[in-house]
Amino acid sequence: MKALTKERTLRTFLLSQKHIVYTDPLDVQAGKTVTVFYNPANTVLNGKPEIWLRCSFNRWTHHMSPLPPQKMFPSENGSHLKANVKVPLDAYMMDFVFSEKEDGGVFDNKNGMDYHVPVFGGIVKEPPMHIVHIAVEMAPIAKVGGLGDVVTSLSRAVQDLNQNVDIILPKYDCWKFNNVKDFQFHKSYSWGGTQIKVWFGKVEGLSVYFLEPQNGFFSVGCIYGRGNDGERFGLFCHAALEFLLQSGFHPDIIHCHDWSSAPVAWLYKEHYRHYGLNKARVVFTIHNLEFGANLIGKAMLNSDKATTVSPTYSQEVSGNPAIAPYLFKFRGILNGIDQDIWDPYNDKFIPLSYTSENVIEGKRAAKEALQQRLGLKKADQPLVGIITRLTHQKGIGLIKHAIWRTLDHNGQVVLLGSAPDPRIQNDFVNLANQLHSSHNDRARLCLTYDEPLSHMIYAGADFILVPSIFEPCGLTQLIAMRYGSIPIVRKTGGLYDTVFDVDHDKERAQVYCLEPNGFNFDGADAAGVDYALNSNLCLVQWTRMVQFIM
Ligand code: ADP
Repeated sequence: MKALTKERTLRTFLLSQKHIVYTDPLDVQAGKTVTVFYNPANTVLNGKPEIWLRCSFNRWTHHMSPLPPQKMFPSENGSHLKANVKVPLDAYMMDFVFSEKEDGGVFDNKNGMDYHVPVFGGIVKEPPMHIVHIAVEMAPIAKVGGLGDVVTSLSRAVQDLNQNVDIILPKYDCWKFNNVKDFQFHKSYSWGGTQIKVWFGKVEGLSVYFLEPQNGFFSVGCIYGRGNDGERFGLFCHAALEFLLQSGFHPDIIHCHDWSSAPVAWLYKEHYRHYGLNKARVVFTIHNLEFGANLIGKAMLNSDKATTVSPTYSQEVSGNPAIAPYLFKFRGILNGIDQDIWDPYNDKFIPLSYTSENVIEGKRAAKEALQQRLGLKKADQPLVGIITRLTHQKGIGLIKHAIWRTLDHNGQVVLLGSAPDPRIQNDFVNLANQLHSSHNDRARLCLTYDEPLSHMIYAGADFILVPSIFEPCGLTQLIAMRYGSIPIVRKTGGLYDTVFDVDHDKERAQVYCLEPNGFNFDGADAAGVDYALNSNLCLVQWTRMVQFIM
């Protein structure tokens, strides 16, 4: 199943740029001739009288390349131009850009990324890069939110593409040690006026180095929330680069995340690249611009490439003074989830394994188990799940409204959430007391962080509600879909990029070769939530959508 999914994903990617570039055949074989098709109408070369293909192999490193520029000719399909290219036997990647003249002029280089198409069946494999993530969260051992998920899932995905990946993380006293394998002492060094012990272990198949400064910076019972978080993570970033240097590592890419490991970008550019870590390029990813914008701005300046977690969020933040000067190196790349970690076919927290084929049975069993565990009535009513940090970003007013509307509609509602702010936590404790006495058989608010329970809710719910006021990407709507729960989201950031409304988004979904996969609403008032909850899908439509989203 995994191999099939991978193949399908690659095909979908290659077809997704067909309106600009594609090859015939789609899967390019080493040693064969391939035709490259290009449609300038959708690019900066629109209207140019001539188009020239400039082609190379193996990310512009092949000894025969670049090939001499080739003039492209009209093709039978009318819209595209075409040119033939002989692919060498030792190619693993085709690279190309297009220009208006033989000797240059205006270029279409996909905004600096160039066009790349993988080559199959070659005698040479792509040499792996060494990529080091320096981060302060990692699922499942030290996770507060989506940043932790992404550090793990992105690393696993890139490792799966045969790259070498290491992660450097603080060694917290509050980590979930059970999930670390082969744990061992690695080395120790002095830095920043303290001794730093380095431990090594495997987490979800990834190599992780844990830094433990002996000054107790990470033995404080939590990841965030101390008055000196900036100082603690500042020391960690510096110590991580020092560790790379002292260990003789020469990473190709150092990847840092959010304000908490932003200092890596300038410490590297100002110091470490002059000392011997000189090969690396720095990639910086913004998971949420709400915190530490001044540190984020400084990392934007000092990184080679900067990304954020969805295209729409990249537009939403493009005017921010921390971002605006650096748009030329900034891109929104949509997050994904790890399909092995979130997999209802292989999930020890749910009662019955299911795929899209037995999803109705699987979800029924999960719903019953959830109702039983939480003491809700065993009934076949729509169940709305909400899994979230309870902060203003997540649309607290809309969440409360949706709880009452669901109960009005005779549905059940389960909220799993914890609030870092004690006032918000108290507010929800009061609401929980009220609901648990007025609607004890239909509403349950679990005001805590509970990973196993989150899996049961993803599987047992019919809908997952994500009414965020802003959302850089959001993972809960993606996990929901993987478990066959229909997302109801507010149209913002990555929620807009991933959820296509049944009634309004058919055409927008088609652009991505998708079908509608949920409900979305505009505005920050209650009407949008009502719309989604009021929509009636017949059973056939329902089953079809659930199978599709999985
Ligand atoms: P954010 O990073 O803003 O918190 P995301 O949607 O990107 O939001 O990621 C949230 C992640 O945290 C998801 O994996 C979700 O399942 C998990 N999560 C959020 N709240 C809880 C909770 N109370 N218990 C367990 N998991 C939670």
